[in-house]
Amino acid sequence: SALAASTRLEHTYATQVPQLSVRWSADPATAASWVVVNDSLAQQLGIDPAFLRSPEGVDFLHGQFPAEPHSNDDDAPPTYAQAYAGHQFGQFVPQLGDGRALLLGEVVDVDGNRRDLHLKGSGRTPFSRGGDGKAPLGPMLREYLIGEAMHALGIPSTRALAVVETGQQVQRQQPGPQPGAVLTRVAASHLRVGTFQFAAVHRSVEVKRALADHAIARHWPEAADAENPYLELLRCVTHAQAPLIARWMLVGFIHGVMNTDNMTISGESIDYGPCAFVDRFSRGAVFSSIDRGGRYAYRNQPAIGLWNLSRFAETLIDLIDDDPNVAVECATAVLHEYEPAYDAALARGFAAKLGVDLGSAPDPEALTQFRAFVETTFDLMEVTGQDFTLFFRAVAEDRLDERVEPEALTDWMAEGDRLVREWAPGGIADGELARRSNPVYIPRNHHLDRALNKAEQGDMSDFHRLLAAVQDPYGRRDEFAGLEGPGSESAFVTFCGT
Ligand code: AMP
Ligand code: MG
Ligand code: MG
Repeated sequence: SALAASTRLEHTYATQVPQLSVRWSADPATAASWVVVNDSLAQQLGIDPAFLRSPEGVDFLHGQFPAEPHSNDDDAPPTYAQAYAGHQFGQFVPQLGDGRALLLGEVVDVDGNRRDLHLKGSGRTPFSRGGDGKAPLGPMLREYLIGEAMHALGIPSTRALAVVETGQQVQRQQPGPQPGAVLTRVAASHLRVGTFQFAAVHRSVEVKRALADHAIARHWPEAADAENPYLELLRCVTHAQAPLIARWMLVGFIHGVMNTDNMTISGESIDYGPCAFVDRFSRGAVFSSIDRGGRYAYRNQPAIGLWNLSRFAETLIDLIDDDPNVAVECATAVLHEYEPAYDAALARGFAAKLGVDLGSAPDPEALTQFRAFVETTFDLMEVTGQDFTLFFRAVAEDRLDERVEPEALTDWMAEGDRLVREWAPGGIADGELARRSNPVYIPRNHHLDRALNKAEQGDMSDFHRLLAAVQDPYGRRDEFAGLEGPGSESAFVTFCGT
């Protein structure tokens, strides 16, 4: 039963830092049913996927944990709404929190890793402000599919265990009533920069210290042994976020809402709202309609990462040292590690896209040269109007001459060949590495939108086809014909002169 399944749920967060969440229950739902269940993730968690498809499993997946008959209501398994604050588009909002979400609890997976199970769309909470606490089906399926795509691309990401329909309608301005849904999200944790900001503004330094200790124990246990564990926490998060954002850049991913409440302490990507994979490449690409100033444009993501980490560092100052001047100096020194870490991750990943394995301890000169070649390549891509994914796949398949006019390609080719000769083991590009580093299938917006529209009409066939493609993104397969190309609105443009 749902109650039996809930007995596996642990609550280290709620017990170790009780001041940062409130006990709260999901809205009851009358006619819920599952829409999609993630079998392999369920197995990783040690949960039987068949259970999740049963009526009791569906209850579990939208937080219906009725207490034992005749028992006091307090005996129902606890679920929690987590508090957090955050900078939204640069503006500090002191109280955000789970306005339509709940922490079901934590499970230890088959490899011994602790994972949060979290519901999104489960009803209003004390943090809902003006919101209805609900989630429409389309955006929840979108989050499901993008999380699977990121995971398949080797990018640390939260993932969805399931999406259930609630049987209720959700009212949004556009395009009218939609089926309501609840997504179950699996994450290393839901600790965010915004969690620390909330503790810093609303709670005592002791609570903040307990939060930092919880984060260290959970994600960076080796930091506990450092000379200054809280400075080490900042360093660990910095060195997790820098390569994460580099990985985004290397696949053309634009998160869209890099607010501090959407940046994790674990280094997983989280909260796939108005995100997108860029098609026709431009460094200034923005997809989110709410991002009017282009704050979270493609090219700004690395700098925003550092900006968010700086907000994180501010919350740690009084934990790092009693003397604020000393603490600020130490924290600043750690933040200065971000840019080189980002550049190194970007250069190393970019080299792999060209089939060059720089190894685990790359030559600094190689990093410098590949880092510079990233910009040369982006210039070429912008000038010749390249689709990001198709361009790099053509590089991997040695078919770039089909996409770029020779006069635009000559200099780029010469520099690329020189880098390969100088830095590849044996001086030869590794085609297999290049193909493993340049996907064929990414969740392109127009395919995703079509699949989600059909899903809202009850037809999941396009969703499952796209899901299967992005879950195994590196090998071209006939059954996914048509999924590799951009939409007509961003059609491939040949070299346009100048
Ligand atoms: P997001 O933009 O999804 O990262 O959410 C920002 C904040 O708005 C978070 O505190 C959410 O919990 C809250 N929120 C988003 N949608 C809703 C909703 N439908 N009802 C209540 N709160 C919401
Ligand atoms: Mg969010
Ligand atoms: Mg959200």
